[in-house]
Amino acid sequence: MSAVYNFCAGPAMLPTAVMSKAQQEFINWQNTGCSVMELSHRSKEFMALATKAEADLRQLMNIPVNYRVLFCHGGGRGQFSAIPMNLLPVGGHAEYIISGSWSKAAAKEAENFGEIRPQSVVEERDGIKTVKPFDQWEISPDAAYVHYCPNETVDGLELFDIPKFGDIPIVADMSSTILSHDIDVNKFGLIYAGAQKNIGPSGLTIVIVREDLLGKARTDTPCIMNYTTAAENDSMYNTPPTYAWYLAGLVFEWLKSIGGVAAIEKVNKHKAKLLYDYVDSSTFYQNNIDENFRSRMNIPFWLQDESLNEAFLSAAKEDGLVALKGHRMVGGMRASIYNAMPLEGVEKLVDFMKTFEQRNR
Ligand code: PMP
Repeated sequence: MSAVYNFCAGPAMLPTAVMSKAQQEFINWQNTGCSVMELSHRSKEFMALATKAEADLRQLMNIPVNYRVLFCHGGGRGQFSAIPMNLLPVGGHAEYIISGSWSKAAAKEAENFGEIRPQSVVEERDGIKTVKPFDQWEISPDAAYVHYCPNETVDGLELFDIPKFGDIPIVADMSSTILSHDIDVNKFGLIYAGAQKNIGPSGLTIVIVREDLLGKARTDTPCIMNYTTAAENDSMYNTPPTYAWYLAGLVFEWLKSIGGVAAIEKVNKHKAKLLYDYVDSSTFYQNNIDENFRSRMNIPFWLQDESLNEAFLSAAKEDGLVALKGHRMVGGMRASIYNAMPLEGVEKLVDFMKTFEQRNR
């Protein structure tokens, strides 16, 4: 049981069971007499760990055999560059769907590498943000790929349905939603995610790429960003972030042990409903996303009287509820409730919010 419930958007809390296991094994991993972080990435012990972590992730996400799983560096933003370098041919163009601040940042970075066609799909009605249906997205048939962000971490907006535009590869930034609910990997050309929310510590980035998309990188792509180089070298062309890989492996084992993605999806739905239902039942707090697109991972909410923000945050902290301050771009509060946040953490938050409301109404 953690001393506090940490609602940080990332790096985020990790499962207590995983942290305890890592602590036990910290200086002597599997009787090697070393910490796993002190072992060569080419040692047979580490190679076995790496292979198992990939196999567990494949099992958890039901990743088909024609997809490669790459363990990369550089975070989500590293992929904002790597994707166009690997997938955008000279003279081609890519469609970027803008649904919030992270998809916007991805498009801006990609513009350094070729023709990017960004389009906003968010509409605001009566102060509530909603998303245009897929058939109103304007996608040209010769686009090299369509990039979108299924869960906007800052805005708290999530798209649960997966878009389809003929054979155009769909590229998805799943940094803040990977492993939170079941998805059909076959519907994507490429999925990527920084680890620091639902996978492990920062420093590791997972890329799941369909094999036919390999071998297309521009010739000036740095080798550590080239998917083909990574795939041909089992993500060990250079030294990978070994300790983060190890922790990711422990998180995958933990997720399997509690029933996998389908099981955590149920818990995630329950946690999110608890919080949204309370926010909706109160006039003291508000959320501004259409209920069909409300994120289950990042839940922004605003106090009607914003002059109470500081008091809210410091009282929450005293109660052991930390990192609830909203992103600087949107203000207010944000509760990030990834897989590792137990139901009790959200129950405690809702109880706290009720008490705070009663005291300050
Ligand atoms: N995409 C999304 C959806 C994110 O939430 C974040 C980080 N919060 C990023 C990209 C950027 O990730 P990184 O800091 O690992 O580059």
